[in-house]
Amino acid sequence: LIELDRAHLVHPVSSYRSHERMGVRVLKSARGATVTDATGHHLLDGFAGLWCVNVGYGQESIVDAATKQLRELPYATGYFGLGSEPAIRLAAKLAELSPGDLNHIYFTLGGSDAVDSTIRFIRYYYHSKGTPQKDQFISVEYGYHGSSTAGSGLTAIPVFHAGFGAPFHWQHKIPSHYVYRNPVGSNSQAIIDASVGALRAKIAELGAERVAAFYAEPIQGSGGVLVPPVGWLTAMHAVCKEHDILFVADEVITGFGRTGPLFACEEDDVTPDLMTTAKGLTSGYVPLGAVFMSDNVYNTIADGAGKADVGHGYTYSAHPVSAAVGLECLRLYEDGLLDNGRRAGKRLMAGLRSLADHPLVGDVRGRGMLAAVELVTDKARKTPLPPEADLARRIFDRAWNNGLVIRAFANGVLGYAPPLCCTDEEIDGIIERTRRTLDQTLD
Ligand code: PMP
Repeated sequence: LIELDRAHLVHPVSSYRSHERMGVRVLKSARGATVTDATGHHLLDGFAGLWCVNVGYGQESIVDAATKQLRELPYATGYFGLGSEPAIRLAAKLAELSPGDLNHIYFTLGGSDAVDSTIRFIRYYYHSKGTPQKDQFISVEYGYHGSSTAGSGLTAIPVFHAGFGAPFHWQHKIPSHYVYRNPVGSNSQAIIDASVGALRAKIAELGAERVAAFYAEPIQGSGGVLVPPVGWLTAMHAVCKEHDILFVADEVITGFGRTGPLFACEEDDVTPDLMTTAKGLTSGYVPLGAVFMSDNVYNTIADGAGKADVGHGYTYSAHPVSAAVGLECLRLYEDGLLDNGRRAGKRLMAGLRSLADHPLVGDVRGRGMLAAVELVTDKARKTPLPPEADLARRIFDRAWNNGLVIRAFANGVLGYAPPLCCTDEEIDGIIERTRRTLDQTLD
């Protein structure tokens, strides 16, 4: 398998270097929060796959829901006005559970095409309003908004740009809140003021009449789990409102209980104009993403689309099997998983904070079941670990040998996003195996 993999299976580009050297590790099976590789090695999955298996592995009711739907109706296209019961019910349920008037749901296959679709919807929204000159997009440094051609330019992490010709000329960024390394210090209000100032300055530079939308993750995930100060999202939302700029919350990671509530923007009492989700929507069992649109955004688009022919859609939009799985995931969240995730999240954060006095640990941050430990070589100076991929790979390998899957970012940030079904023992296992890994990393 390792040889066939090396010869034929193209992995995400970020793993090329290690992939060349190590080959792949083949996973064979999984149950709850535990994955097992082809050699029989059991590991706690501290990252829920790629922050997506929120309900945990081996949920039989999901298998049943998918099987039933596969037998009954495996496919229906949303084109020509056709639909399927699970897709309609899932849209209605999501509209009911989402904040404010995010009542209109467009299904995609995952997060990247959800973000990509928002760019097209937003362009069409302004076209319909008669203000197509509003065509400039702003996002936040360290933000991740997928790997589609357009979305990767909103992503503001250098490895997703270099060599790919991204970002495009209509894509702009402002500095992140990154509390641990913010040049204005760690005071919450100072950080919020700096971000508000940066957004205002960028809008002034571009001209408000040119700015279409601002994108933010409630907590930046792939940039290293960067948690903004309380009030940051609300303040940025207010600036957008002032200038008639659409506010897009990218909840692909933070949605579906990852940070505590069903959606993270609820915590800040912010209702975005558009919201993107994926991952926990179907917990990785099958692919599905969803764009949520406010009444205003949807009605404006629908109004425009009523007057002229328009085309946007995917063959697998609103896939019935994915929708059936999504409905079952929502049932599981409501039936105790959200509560368990909140309880487990408190234990995870307390456990990780207990590592703060370790000589390698510079910062511990997170909310709910989304957390990170930032490693440094000098705590006082906050000296980052040298950014060689090797080091991250070594930490990943040691954790793996200790029976733990975590994400080791190249800059020495360890990412955590365990399944919400974790027991106390499993959370304690994640902490204990992390401590062991860090102690070995000192050797
Ligand atoms: N947005 C955010 C915030 C994400 O974290 C991700 C994936 N990590 C995406 C978009 C892209 O989603 P996908 O990988 O499902 O295309």
